[in-house]
Amino acid sequence: MEPTRCEGCGLELEGGTLGCQVLFEQACAVNHERPGPTRSHRVFVDAYALQHPQRYCESAKSLFAHMGGLLVEFECDGDAAVLEAQRKSLDGRVRLPRPDPPALRGKLTVREVLAAAEGPPRQKVIQAYAKEQWAAYAPLQSLAAQWTRMALRHR
Ligand SMILES: [Zn+2]
Repeated sequence: MEPTRCEGCGLELEGGTLGCQVLFEQACAVNHERPGPTRSHRVFVDAYALQHPQRYCESAKSLFAHMGGLLVEFECDGDAAVLEAQRKSLDGRVRLPRPDPPALRGKLTVREVLAAAEGPPRQKVIQAYAKEQWAAYAPLQSLAAQWTRMALRHR
């Protein structure tokens, strides 16, 4: 099979978008086999989802959930109470707009994450990967922050 481009991250690989999905699932499986810090895995999943919004952020609910994860990671020092308030606010019917994700979404991909040795080296790449995604979503950051403040007020 000829390599094709993943529509989410632009990675060229066999199977394109689907091939990228397989790498993502591989990275998740590795994580489950050898549970490292759950926080790093959560951040990885949020970052991958934001980089592949066609598949993982179709609804406002999922988009805000994943943006919320990175907001907590980078702006609230991983505070679990904020995550919980966000989760609660997304329970049931959600009245949020679904803004368009940014067109450019970082350079790092799941391939670099998988290439790093498990443990601290991989966690380091995941941090860089997630940081790139959070930076790519800069135009939507204030919206995510507004929503999070609302979620905290109503918890
Ligand atoms: Zn991809």
